[in-house]
Amino acid sequence: MALIVQKYGGTSVGNTERIKNVARRVADYHRRGDQLVVVVSAMSGVTDGLIKLAKEITPLPNERELDMLLATGEQQTIALTAMALHALGIPAVSLTGAQAGIVTDGIHTKARIRNITPKAVHELLQSGAVVIVAGFQGETPDGQITTLGRGGSDLTAIALAAALKADLCQIYTDVDGVYTADPRIVPTARKLDEISYDEMLELASLGAKVMQSRSVEFAKKFGVVFEVRSSLNDNPGTIVKEETKSMEGIVVRGVSLDKNQAKITLVGVPDRPGMAAKIFKALGDAAINVDMIVQNISHGDGPPTTDLSFTVDKADLLKARKVIEALQPDVGFRQVLANENIGKLSIVGVGMKSHTGVAGRMFEVLAREGINIDMISTSEIKISVIIDLARAEHAMRAVHAAFIG
Ligand code: ADP
Ligand code: ASP
Ligand code: MG
Repeated sequence: MALIVQKYGGTSVGNTERIKNVARRVADYHRRGDQLVVVVSAMSGVTDGLIKLAKEITPLPNERELDMLLATGEQQTIALTAMALHALGIPAVSLTGAQAGIVTDGIHTKARIRNITPKAVHELLQSGAVVIVAGFQGETPDGQITTLGRGGSDLTAIALAAALKADLCQIYTDVDGVYTADPRIVPTARKLDEISYDEMLELASLGAKVMQSRSVEFAKKFGVVFEVRSSLNDNPGTIVKEETKSMEGIVVRGVSLDKNQAKITLVGVPDRPGMAAKIFKALGDAAINVDMIVQNISHGDGPPTTDLSFTVDKADLLKARKVIEALQPDVGFRQVLANENIGKLSIVGVGMKSHTGVAGRMFEVLAREGINIDMISTSEIKISVIIDLARAEHAMRAVHAAFIG
């Protein structure tokens, strides 16, 4: 008998037939004698639909209210999934994130899990029931509903697996596992049998939405080994775990493309100590993640100025502009420009630690395709470039072909 945490994403619970299909799989495990905690997402399209409704009311909805709204998506699915299990004669109880004991901080729309007290979950498991938990949501210590960032049901599952010391954590989705690139964009992408936390973390943070990056961070921190697999068949998936020596033999494990970044450029920032600190502190205080940063010194007449460019999530662009514009009188830059037509293309692999010349090869491939590089950033195990969005998918296929095949 094993304690298993399973997570089913939006497509896997996308309609009532799919929910019945999930219930059948869960029932099979339950009949074998396993204890099951099942985390579900909102049905596909529901969260996007709710965000759209909110934006029809106001372009910058209050984030507490947005969480109140978004949390309803997962609550629909938990109830329907419990009902589908009942129809198969399996005892099942649905719990909201709060009822499952998921306590978060108060950063609405991207709250972090502080701790989990899964008392109710344990009791229900003891009673023989399948426990269905709403993904993506939690509650602050003073009872405010929060959500965990887009794709946050992955985090709910991994965090519950850690808190419950589960024997197995399975992330069911609409692909067979983690691929060398998004199979929807790169038809030659291959499924990986295994991948290290660090590689998965980079791929996820750089646009591979198959796993939410924070959930991978959490899994690494608490040593939760998990499997990404399909809810539509029984093929073995991809095991995500600590790096092994043999993984270093491969230079590039995967390629990812993030189309959800926007570039902001502040033109004519006075070139004085403390300017960057002011700008990035204000963005940080507004809980806006800044990714790549590039600064160019201008050599014109007059007092020295710089142009400062950085990237943020598209979803944060409006908020970031507001924060920046409020700083204008203090910092004194000349102009703010925003460009949403960018893509961030990255290659990732722990093997880069011991191989040289990888960046040069990537830039050569892009040059051959006539693709201009706008910004570059690297770490020990990844290289990212900002390029024109219109050419980004083409670039991704070219880079995949060069490094992976
Ligand atoms: P879920 O709703 O199950 O959470 P998501 O839509 O969030 O599923 O993630 C699954 C999708 O991630 C796949 O359909 C695929 O298009 C996309 N994806 C992006 N990069 C990868 C990758 N490297 N491997 C597998 N899937 C990927
Ligand atoms: N429903 C949420 C989203 O669409 C969480 C999730 O699916 O994991 O982002
Ligand atoms: Mg997802």
